Amino acid sequence: MKLGRDPIITREDGPRSEVADTWEARIRCHACELSYIAVEMDRDPTADGMAICSACAAESPEMLRAVRKEATMAGEGHLL
Ligand SMILES: [Zn+2]
Repeated sequence: MKLGRDPIITREDGPRSEVADTWEARIRCHACELSYIAVEMDRDPTADGMAICSACAAESPEMLRAVRKEATMAGEGHLL
């Protein structure tokens, strides 16, 4: 029997939950290739879950659509 987190609901805070200090660690955005602190980052479901900054995410209708769909499936529904 497997215990642990359900892989379907591991999204949570995206890259934020993967770094030790979200205010110090910097993550590179795959879209604009600039690095931002982790709290500014999200995952881009349209690019295999690569990190994307909030500015690029806001400019990507595909990304927003995919994130909304993902959130709906995860039963969150508090996006945007
Ligand atoms: Zn970016």
